[in-house]
Amino acid sequence: MRYLSTRGDATPRKFCDILLEGLAPDGGLYLPEHYPRIDAARLAALRRVHASQGYAALAFEILGLYIDDIPAADLKAICEKTYTAEVFGTREIVPLKKLEEGLVLEALSNGPTLAFKDMAMQLLGNLFEYELARRNEGKGEQLNILGATSGDTGSAAEYAMRGKRGIRVFMLSPHGRMSPFQQAQMFSLQDANIHNIAVEGVFDDCQDIVKAVSNDLAFKRQYKIGTVNSINWARLLAQVVYYFAGYFEATKSDNEKVSFTVPSGNFGNVCAGHVARQMGLPIAQLVVATNENDVLDEFFRTGVYRVRGSADTHETSSPSMDISKASNFERFVFDLLGRDGIATRALFHDALGRDGRFDLSGDTRFANAAARYGFASGKSTHADRLATIRDVHQRHGVTIDTHTADGVKVAREHLQPGVPMIVLETALPIKFAATITEALGREPERPARFIGIEDLPKRVQVLPADAARVKTLIAQECE
Ligand SMILES: *Cc1c(COP(=O)(O)O)cnc(C)c1O
Repeated sequence: MRYLSTRGDATPRKFCDILLEGLAPDGGLYLPEHYPRIDAARLAALRRVHASQGYAALAFEILGLYIDDIPAADLKAICEKTYTAEVFGTREIVPLKKLEEGLVLEALSNGPTLAFKDMAMQLLGNLFEYELARRNEGKGEQLNILGATSGDTGSAAEYAMRGKRGIRVFMLSPHGRMSPFQQAQMFSLQDANIHNIAVEGVFDDCQDIVKAVSNDLAFKRQYKIGTVNSINWARLLAQVVYYFAGYFEATKSDNEKVSFTVPSGNFGNVCAGHVARQMGLPIAQLVVATNENDVLDEFFRTGVYRVRGSADTHETSSPSMDISKASNFERFVFDLLGRDGIATRALFHDALGRDGRFDLSGDTRFANAAARYGFASGKSTHADRLATIRDVHQRHGVTIDTHTADGVKVAREHLQPGVPMIVLETALPIKFAATITEALGREPERPARFIGIEDLPKRVQVLPADAARVKTLIAQECE
């Protein structure tokens, strides 16, 4: 399998070439040159593998369709090491929980940091370690991962990379803006290869610093800077697996269809659903659920994609979806436009650069998008969130987090008779305790391993929002 860029650069690359990379050199995102087709016989075989050998074996089968530059035995070992009951809390890894008739939750948040990002990041940690060891052959080279987080990405990356040989993590977060639980999760890590940097600014300042450092190509090369943000293809690929697992768990035969509702910000998670559907998984609808930051809902309703300024980006109670633009969305549009890299560049580079928006409302390919790709959408507000958390708790005795609540609210508006609707549970409620307390009048349950983490010693350095200061720090650590 080879990979190409959404903006037309067709230089063929292998999986391990793009594993450590963010954007393609032409500014596009990487995609496989085609989506391997799962026919009926293959789907039946995958269902048997999942039923008899479990999630890690299913992951190996699906990843193997996209990765041909890691020997099969090694890839299998990486999957088995990653998807264990010890790491993800249950033998099923992503168990389903039934709510009312026709509506189930797929639990993706029982990993080390209690958000779905662990599903991909744990795999990435093991892939990085494997690939670095293979490349270095004892040369002792280091990869320095630089990232920005508003909460969940940073902790998932740090827990996946802590103690790994050949890897250091420098994670920027907006000083004082994450929830106390999220701060404690990251800052209490004592591993020598993890560096927390609290930036005096907002999340966008952190992202700007990552961009500035990455754009300094000499620095990037000298210090081997890599990224783990949500545009990384390997993260997206890892997420494809749980769409298959959810389908097999929710159905008895391959003649049935299911729908998924996905709480969405950067379009990473739901883009994996798009890939699964393109491979032939029988998905009826892919419902995109946003919060008040409704960039994606607006597009799927109207055909207009409009990037927001920082003044129109709302701080909400589902903060991991507070985005001004959806950084993975270009992948779907590339497919929508018949994989035309020139047309994709004209929208994402030219039109967005010039006008901050583009409009596909008059394009028949957009008009056919719902039928052809199954997309639908909806949005949720703070009041909806509170009402949904209360309702699910009262009717089903289940406490859901704020992002999952946005998903359930929107899912209920898109139910179709005879088609199970699977809502992806993207975090556990303890990560967003203040809003759960507002809804239910008490704190959500806390897994035992996190009791008292706010009181542990913290490892974090506060820096001004200045890329030069971050570079100096990285250089010092690499001496
Ligand atoms: C990251 C995140 C999301 C959004 O996922 P995208 O892949 O960016 O769409 C939703 N909920 C939670 C809890 C998250 O951490």
